Amino acid sequence: MIPLAYSHAASEAEALALEGAFIAGGTNLIDLMKEDVLRPRALVDINGLPLDQIRAGEDGGLLLGATARNADTAYHPLVRRHYPLLTAAILAGASPQIRNMASNGGNLLQRTRCHYFYDVGVPCNKRAPGSGCSAIGGLTRQHAILGASPQCIAVHPSDMCVALAALQAAVHVRSPRGMRRIAFADFHRLPDDRPDLDTTLGQDELITHIELPPSSQFAAHSAYLKFRDRASYAFALVSVAAMLDIGEDGLISEARLAMGGVAHKPWRVPAAEALLAGRRAEPSAFGQAADALLAGAQGQGENNFKIEMARRAVVRALEQAAEGTHDNTRSERDGSD
Ligand SMILES: Cc1cc2nc3c(=O)[nH]c(=O)nc-3n(C[C@H](O)[C@H](O)[C@H](O)COP(=O)(O)OP(=O)(O)OC[C@H]3O[C@@H](n4cnc5c(N)ncnc54)[C@H](O)[C@@H]3O)c2cc1C
Ligand code: SF4
Repeated sequence: MIPLAYSHAASEAEALALEGAFIAGGTNLIDLMKEDVLRPRALVDINGLPLDQIRAGEDGGLLLGATARNADTAYHPLVRRHYPLLTAAILAGASPQIRNMASNGGNLLQRTRCHYFYDVGVPCNKRAPGSGCSAIGGLTRQHAILGASPQCIAVHPSDMCVALAALQAAVHVRSPRGMRRIAFADFHRLPDDRPDLDTTLGQDELITHIELPPSSQFAAHSAYLKFRDRASYAFALVSVAAMLDIGEDGLISEARLAMGGVAHKPWRVPAAEALLAGRRAEPSAFGQAADALLAGAQGQGENNFKIEMARRAVVRALEQAAEGTHDNTRSERDGSD
């Protein structure tokens, strides 16, 4: 048996001084430990730190504490009013029980759901660098169609992160060297030749909070659309976050688009969004944006269907956003998510 130390950090400084893996909700870390994918020698429990607040930022935006729970974040009145896209994305993920435990920081750092990553009996460059990629030529239904490398074709599984990408959030972190702010687009990375690294976060860095810039101009026209194998409790095959700022003249002044389930990080192409600026909210414009967002998409065989599915999902998400933001907390309360 491998000994495992467990400590509760009383302050951020103590959390950084204690050597070990941070544990928040434990909904991903403990699963990975049970499967022998990760074997930390020590766990540092960060749930006692004052990082569970959701509060207004100085610039009119919102600050989401790293240990605030996904459920509390989704249902927070300021999130629902100003960032309904984020509410919709969080509620599209996991189950009510898991969202009650899952933290915002942990959600950002959840690992891929590639079956081979979880199976320690087979090669996987992400789990064991240099061992090979069992997914290439294997079961690829859930794998990447964009940004993959010959080393790894896994996708990032989070729903929340797709919304955060579209919202142009930033991640605030603390380490023994001080604080730094990471733009969301730079937080997750593509696999390239280092698929073992999911993010640009240092091993000794603690996420303290997520910053949401003011985004009220999009609140009336946003949508999160998720296609998956089951109606609930399943990761995205393809998901889309769409945000439109539509003026009184009916023209789009700004659009944001991000896709999940298609790449090693939430997928955004600013040039695709720019194609919608100054256009009417209509299917021909949406189709052009979808084509630009999916430029270069390549299937692995079993997941070729994802390319057409993603194109249709982008168009549909933009149509839904143009129709007006839907309050999906109602269906959630009815238990019909
Ligand atoms: C059955 C099941 C279904 C799921 N379905 C979905 C889904 O459909 N969509 C979806 O998006 N997610 C889904 N999830 C994933 C779930 O959202 C994540 O497991 C959860 O968000 C992780 O948060 P946590 O607080 O439990 O993280 P933990 O398990 O505690 O930690 C995860 C990782 O983050 C690190 N960490 C945690 N907090 C910090 C911090 N503040 N600073 C630095 N490092 C930190 C830990 O060291 C660890 O490496 C599902 C999970 C399960 C078990
Ligand atoms: S796709 Fe990535 S995570 Fe999956 S087996 Fe290949 S290297 Fe491992």
